[in-house]
Amino acid sequence: MKSHHDPDLQLRGRLIRSLGALREMLPGSFVERKRACGRPNCHCADGKNLHSQFQISVLVDGKPKAFNIPAEWADQVREKTEMRRRFEAAAATICGVNLKRFLKEKQERQP
Ligand SMILES: [Zn+2]
Repeated sequence: MKSHHDPDLQLRGRLIRSLGALREMLPGSFVERKRACGRPNCHCADGKNLHSQFQISVLVDGKPKAFNIPAEWADQVREKTEMRRRFEAAAATICGVNLKRFLKEKQERQP
């Protein structure tokens, strides 16, 4: 069967071609924390209008780390951590297609 008629291979090809767009992916989780800065005259002193502190939470050498993110980078960093989730979802689907093909080929070669 030619690959352009096989829906699994069409899917695999489409996913593979989509991976280049995810090259800027970042590991870990995007986190938004609310905090008071401690200055008594700040708007956050009421305990309601808190500051947002954005972080990326990531394992470095197996240890959890959190890195602060400047507010103006927040949207971009959030998108980059979502890219990694899309990458992993694509990898899982590609592996599923390949496993199915592997098992089919194996079965066809059984004596
Ligand atoms: Zn404040």
